[in-house]
Amino acid sequence: MESAENCSVKVAVHIRPLIGDERVQGCKECVTVTPGKPQVQIGTHSFTFDNVYGNGGSPSSAMFEECVAPLVDGLFQGYNATVLAYGQTGSGKTYTMGTSFKDGCQTGLIPQVMNALFNKIETLKHQTEFQLHVSFIEGTDNWVLILKILKEEVRDLLDTVSVSKSVAANGHGKVAIPGRPSIQIRESSNGVITLAGSTEVAVSTLQEMAACLEQGSLTRATGIQVSIGHPFILILETVLTKELVGIHINRGLLALGNVISALGDEKKRKEGVHVPYRDSKLTRLLQDSLGGNSKTVMIACISPADINAEETLNTLKYANRAR
Ligand code: ADP
Repeated sequence: MESAENCSVKVAVHIRPLIGDERVQGCKECVTVTPGKPQVQIGTHSFTFDNVYGNGGSPSSAMFEECVAPLVDGLFQGYNATVLAYGQTGSGKTYTMGTSFKDGCQTGLIPQVMNALFNKIETLKHQTEFQLHVSFIEGTDNWVLILKILKEEVRDLLDTVSVSKSVAANGHGKVAIPGRPSIQIRESSNGVITLAGSTEVAVSTLQEMAACLEQGSLTRATGIQVSIGHPFILILETVLTKELVGIHINRGLLALGNVISALGDEKKRKEGVHVPYRDSKLTRLLQDSLGGNSKTVMIACISPADINAEETLNTLKYANRAR
């Protein structure tokens, strides 16, 4: 098995306990976890994943720390991040994500992501100002929560040292200025705004002033940009549907499986094989997040009840394909 750290797609399984109705109906558990291994058995099938939670696997409380916290850290290093929970209706996706917002529930992944993000932003606020933008949208069989972090930076147009270094580093100029502390906008308690770290040039004549502006304009014209992070985390859930007879999986998930398999196959990638992002709305939406500099965690949510065995097997087969 590949090490999870080197994998851009990590796959975990979350097995919920039998719930009220299932107990009332006398359902039996048909899913077992191999002790000490992230391995799930159902019938004669056995699947190994990166992590398995619940039902004898690790406790669910470990899921955020092991699977999602590294993605939050990655956001601040320029990685995009995607967390995808999927499984049949009633398999525990909402519970796992923590969006039911019943009884002030704070245990799911989203409240923990929010908490970790704001903590990180708080620790960095003296260096950089971040803005968090939230979108929450719903499709026919999924919803998506997008958290976009914009890093507010300003660049120094009069700093000739950094300008020449940047041009040398990359003729196209799309790089952060190396070796220079970024300029920080500071507001004092009496509301006075100052720029810490910006170059100040003393000018005594109109010509000197004009030369400064010319220098600044030249810097702008070279197109050098201080890197602006646009990483975002996408969190969504998608149901597998029985209604699509034969196809036990919805179109978006099917397309997503094809994209992940094209991205995950190094040989295919080297051969420049087409990645079918445009096959569904879901994959088009996830294109920026999945391709390139990104980390993805897929969480397959399953019910242990024997009445759901067929759907559970489909969910596990799909999850297995993504590995
Ligand atoms: P889905 O979003 O996949 O349709 P839900 O998250 O709504 O499923 O879960 C269905 C039911 O199972 C809910 O009553 C939920 O509280 C319960 N449930 C789900 N996961 C767990 C879990 N890990 N522990 C206890 N109850 C759970």
